[in-house]
Amino acid sequence: MKSRLQEHCSFCGKSKKETIILIAGIEAHICEACVEQAHDILTEEMLSRDPKSSDFKVPENITPVSIKQYLDDYIIGQDEAKKYLSVAVYNHYKRLKFGEGGDIKIQKSNILFVGSTGTGKTLMARTIADFLEVPFTIVDATIFTEAGYVGEDVESMLSRLLQACDYDVEAAQKGIVYIDEIDKIARKNDNPSITRDVSGEGVQQALLKMLEGADVNVPPQGGRKHPEQKMIKINTSNILFICGGAFDGINKIIARRLNTQVIGFDKRDQEHIDQENLLQYINHRDLKKFGLIPELIGRLPVLTYLDPLDKDALVRILQEPKNALLKQYKRLFEMENKDLTFTNDAIEEIAQKAIEFKLGARGLRSICEAVLTDAMFHLPSDKEQKSLEITADYVREKMLKSKLQKLKVA
Ligand code: ADP
Repeated sequence: MKSRLQEHCSFCGKSKKETIILIAGIEAHICEACVEQAHDILTEEMLSRDPKSSDFKVPENITPVSIKQYLDDYIIGQDEAKKYLSVAVYNHYKRLKFGEGGDIKIQKSNILFVGSTGTGKTLMARTIADFLEVPFTIVDATIFTEAGYVGEDVESMLSRLLQACDYDVEAAQKGIVYIDEIDKIARKNDNPSITRDVSGEGVQQALLKMLEGADVNVPPQGGRKHPEQKMIKINTSNILFICGGAFDGINKIIARRLNTQVIGFDKRDQEHIDQENLLQYINHRDLKKFGLIPELIGRLPVLTYLDPLDKDALVRILQEPKNALLKQYKRLFEMENKDLTFTNDAIEEIAQKAIEFKLGARGLRSICEAVLTDAMFHLPSDKEQKSLEITADYVREKMLKSKLQKLKVA
């Protein structure tokens, strides 16, 4: 009996000689053809799975305050953006729970974050997705082109969302998509009649239906490389889209608007304007001037801004969030039974360097790596040294040697 089993595929009955490979199980064998067939059946089944059987749940008992408290654990500052995001997400969930409002149709609360690079826009989107335990994906708007051109179709962002949740269609339909660099698909000129630059506008047009809510046919593997693949239908009505962009140069548009607005009014109004951070006055008109088409702006009703991060904020980012960078390095050293500490001056020095590099909080990680790599290299083999205190001088010395120094912005 045993020898018969060894020689035949238990599924199709082919003898060992007829197969390329016969994989042995405890009491059965399977040939390569049956493995492939089983894989096809499985893929088919996953794609057509009854969405209702999914165990995805909308979280209970959330409030805007509890959402913001969660964000506070991970994101420093940015109170205004956090408040807007908390309310938008809360309303989004009310809409999911109670339907679209019957005769009064509740509009989707898609969000637009405006703020320079490294201020926490992506972090904000990622953190909210973690909180809600929904599928999440990040896409870069610059990879998209109008249908028919080289590049990806906008539908491919939904392929990524599907991949993020193992093709659980129901879960994907309640997911969050973060579209980065939305400013890069702006029309180069505010006036459509005199511009020939339609590429960005074409992508904006393509995004409209998806952002609003529609049935979209999505290629499961994304891209256009697999024309034979079976499409999956995704309804985007309950997908929350969060867009982010630095909108370089929008400050000037805001300043111009504010200046012309104030003319003829009390001069003191001008003095109340915080010239250092004009983004806080951003409105939808500025976005139109920047080159977003009104229809797209209309589908991103929640507009908020992120503050530039000053040195104090960077110092806090290094230490305070739940998974703050310095906590991570301390833990790494602890695993070697070494005690890693930083003086306050050292932390300030790291923050100062990040400001010099103009990378926002994004620079902190590479600076810490540059500062700590030598120690991380030598300490594990040094049985004597039990602790290391990082001082400002230590930071300066390592930074001088580092290639990062070349990044410095004059
Ligand atoms: P953006 O999307 O605005 O360019 P990111 O969200 O990608 O910036 O930020 C880059 C990294 O910097 C994040 O992963 C995080 O570690 C850190 N960071 C940025 N802003 C903050 C913040 N406000 N609080 C805590 N960490 C931040």
